[in-house]
Amino acid sequence: MNKANLVLIAVLLCVLGCGSQPNTVTHAAVQEAVPSQPTAPPIAPASSAAGGFDGSRAFEHVRHLVDIGPRPPGSDGIHVAQAYIVGQLKNFGCEVEEHDFHGSTPLGDIAMKNIIAKIPGKGKGIVLYATHYDTVRIPNFVGADDGGSGTGMMLELARLLCGRKTESALNVWIAFFDGEEAQGEWADKNSVQWTNTNSTFGSREMAASMAISGDLKHLKAMILADMIGPSDLKIKKENQSTQRLNDLIWATAGRLGYGNVFVNESFSIGGDDHLSFIRRGIAACDIIDFDVATTYWHTAEDTLDKVSPRSLAIVGHVFVEILPELEKKFR
Ligand SMILES: [Zn+2]
Repeated sequence: MNKANLVLIAVLLCVLGCGSQPNTVTHAAVQEAVPSQPTAPPIAPASSAAGGFDGSRAFEHVRHLVDIGPRPPGSDGIHVAQAYIVGQLKNFGCEVEEHDFHGSTPLGDIAMKNIIAKIPGKGKGIVLYATHYDTVRIPNFVGADDGGSGTGMMLELARLLCGRKTESALNVWIAFFDGEEAQGEWADKNSVQWTNTNSTFGSREMAASMAISGDLKHLKAMILADMIGPSDLKIKKENQSTQRLNDLIWATAGRLGYGNVFVNESFSIGGDDHLSFIRRGIAACDIIDFDVATTYWHTAEDTLDKVSPRSLAIVGHVFVEILPELEKKFR
């Protein structure tokens, strides 16, 4: 039985009733199951119906990243991913910066790299879109949703925004963070400790360097995307996020007809890259579907079939359309 079939059956079994049972039970159960054909992912809307954002292009980036294999900080895989991200951004005509730094981790000093595309605006104000492109250090973990989906979506957003002829009132920066995941030797889900100093290395580094350079005082909003792949995507308002920024995004999503995706529910996340900016007084928010925490999250089952081009397009479309809203507020 190939892996795609196994995964599909695991998902079906889970839908049928595994609830909060540990994944290992599901794995054992699928060994005897009959193979079936995987269903095709939902098709992305035409880019003309999504503000120019092409969900199928975003999905192809995710496919490429998954094909590289595991991409934890300092690995051969992440070096290939870095070359891919930088190469794509340059192809799109973006101005690209590579910020190299070292993360002090339980595994020792690890060389890390943030990649930032900068689209100049007329004024001084900055809007920062961000995601993380590293993957958690779990054997055989290819991070389609966690690490891949946000990166694919942001690459397509960069293609669209870097190609625009008219200058925006705001500077738009698109950051790809390294080292979001907690570092450590993986034994099981609880063996690596997420702490404020052993996680979010890239976003902490960027917030600190923006404070030193003086750019931080021009930063109007930081909008993070992380794990936006599921075909039944459901984004809830994250409680530690800046609520007026959430409100602006949810109002825009509602206007575009995505009220069933950007739902009026809330939750709190243990940690993510937006908090590196919130702690410095910047308006920031986390766009994430964390309902998958009870299914494939941080398991080797976070594979390409978990990512829908349509879901990437919905988030991408909203991100395109919030830009004029932010310009109205901060020009
Ligand atoms: Zn993760």
